[in-house]
Amino acid sequence: ATFEDFKFNRQILSAIADAGYTQPTPVQQKAIPPILNGQDVMGIAQTGTGKTAAYVLPILMKLKYAQGNDPRGLIIAPTRELAMQIEENIKAFAVNTDLRVVVVYGGLGPKTQIEQINKGVDIIVATPGRFMDIYLAGHIVTKNLQVLVLDEADKMMDMGFMPQVNRILEVVPRKRQNLLFSATMSDKVHNLSANFLEHPTVIEV
Ligand code: AMP
Repeated sequence: ATFEDFKFNRQILSAIADAGYTQPTPVQQKAIPPILNGQDVMGIAQTGTGKTAAYVLPILMKLKYAQGNDPRGLIIAPTRELAMQIEENIKAFAVNTDLRVVVVYGGLGPKTQIEQINKGVDIIVATPGRFMDIYLAGHIVTKNLQVLVLDEADKMMDMGFMPQVNRILEVVPRKRQNLLFSATMSDKVHNLSANFLEHPTVIEV
């Protein structure tokens, strides 16, 4: 399989080529078609398998261009390091578009992060606690959210983020696409997926 098989637009295909990717990895081959189709997906895949691009590329394809001021994509990650890495990936693949991505995480004041969001944003990448803080302060409008990703869900549960994740699920629109990625399939991840995903396509690599 090649990236051309997925019917990505020219902007994305040229960014993929610029990143030096010649062939989709197994998780990308399996996850990209159902995500483009609008299905919920649960991907059991370790870091290093290409799982980030597996959801980032189809999300960029769906969102296409900047629209309005409120986020349409939300990606929740357990750590600041992972959130920053995801943001870098999105920026690299969105380079030929006008899509706006903002990353928010704890450990420093929220002022700059809030200013960036207030300028208008298409995709937010966030750690759970900081997302809720900024949401509760009134700076994130969730009504246009179309797709929600929980990345490294097992780590998120192990780090005790279950309550924050549940709060996030309470403040996002009911009708949305859900993607969950996890390195392992623990009981906690299973319970979360039962709560979070609707008729998911399950992918293991
Ligand atoms: P991830 O599992 O998302 O953390 O990705 C692991 C590494 O593989 C990152 O450095 C990616 O840039 C790289 N990568 C992801 N997909 C591909 C691909 N299709 N071809 C080459 N490298 C890739």
